Amino acid sequence: VNPSSHRKVFEPGAEIFSEGDEGDYVYFIHRGKVELSTMSGGARKVITTLAEGDVLGEMALVDKKPRTATAIALSRVELLASHRDFLEAKLAHTDPMVSLFIRVIMERYRSILRGGKDTTSPSDAEPKSYLDQLVQTTARIEVDLGLNEALSRQELRLAYQPIVNLETRRIVGCESLIRWQHPDRGLIGPGAFLSTAEDTGTIIPISRWIVQQACSDLQLLEAARARNPLARNLPPLYMSINLSGRQFEDPHLAEDIHGLVLGVGADPRRIKLEITESLLIESPDRAARILNAFRDYGFSIAIDDFGTGYSSFNYLCQYPIDTLKVDRSFVLSMRQDHRSSKIVHALIIMANSLDMTVIAEGIEHEDEASRLLDFGAENGQGYLFSRPVPLETLSDVLENEPIREGDSQGPAKSDGS
Ligand code: C2E
Ligand code: CA
Ligand code: CA
Repeated sequence: VNPSSHRKVFEPGAEIFSEGDEGDYVYFIHRGKVELSTMSGGARKVITTLAEGDVLGEMALVDKKPRTATAIALSRVELLASHRDFLEAKLAHTDPMVSLFIRVIMERYRSILRGGKDTTSPSDAEPKSYLDQLVQTTARIEVDLGLNEALSRQELRLAYQPIVNLETRRIVGCESLIRWQHPDRGLIGPGAFLSTAEDTGTIIPISRWIVQQACSDLQLLEAARARNPLARNLPPLYMSINLSGRQFEDPHLAEDIHGLVLGVGADPRRIKLEITESLLIESPDRAARILNAFRDYGFSIAIDDFGTGYSSFNYLCQYPIDTLKVDRSFVLSMRQDHRSSKIVHALIIMANSLDMTVIAEGIEHEDEASRLLDFGAENGQGYLFSRPVPLETLSDVLENEPIREGDSQGPAKSDGS
């Protein structure tokens, strides 16, 4: 049976459930009166009478124990019956704060009703106790509250990792990468908080901040490079910004981002937006609409971590994509494995023949850089050239970079990660 919610009707005198029955459903009394009773000392004892608007059998929500009372319809009774799994599923998708409160209340209710006795046994088939979920949810909410505070207290930072032309080794742009300068825990990387921000939706205000910050920083970087007499006549730098799939739930995402970019005086044609393949697979139509709107505003679009996801080459032609970022794992395996090397080569040829620019990610060794260049990759990014660094460090590099043709000394040192 598919756990769901449905209506049930009981004629006067009918038993709704009986003491000892399995309690899987919670009932809401829509119409009529219900008598709750128990057997004690061989006699039936009425506990209470419930009426319209009352809830019945709510213990099914607390644990999988047999009914502790019998419910009889005193009149014609209409009930709304909800299976515990149905309610669990609803709870899992509700606002995490609301879900937390309900779980706390249920947990308290259980310990009061069970007299504080341990009611869970190892044989319980429940995958996860409410308490485990509670701890997990609490931790997430803590992270989320912290993130919201971080946003208002300006504890979020952007590190910038240069993207270089593999042939000239000149910096052509950079990728903005989020960090959290935590007052107690120090610098925290995105792996520790981004998935929570995505679950709770806090990624939305964070991303809007990132766009504004990265775009105004791009102008500072450009100004720093303009002070470098050796950097005349170079094409303008671009800023690559990561977008989260959550943001695409907003049908007006492109308008919103466009407004933010113009608001800080930046040029959308200098902004590359990085998205992942999964977005295109999960909501193809919405993604198409939004990506086309981005293109119309002049933004460029990169597929991040290319090769790790579904990699259906089909979609590459269906969306306005101009850059492929070949995932670090390919670059990594290229050194060990001849076949990986061939795959990378094929990917680059394909991208180039579709008029897409390639950025190879995670280049750590000189031989990787030269091989990727031979394969036809135009741009690269990785520790070989630079780690992600604070704005000031990258400005200094751009301002003082002695630009020589074929320079292999990228900006090293410092770490923003
Ligand atoms: P990503 O977009 O694939 O970013 C590249 C990651 O690889 C960065 O990690 C970068 O520091 C790291 N990396 C770069 N070069 C090398 C290298 O040569 N070797 C190695 N081992 N690693 C290298 P980071 O900064 O920890 O970011 C992790 C992920 O978090 C990013 O992966 C991205 O998916 C996400 N992320 C970071 N910043 C943002 C942001 O502002 N918004 C969103 N939505 N996601 C972000
Ligand atoms: Ca990225
Ligand atoms: Ca990537």
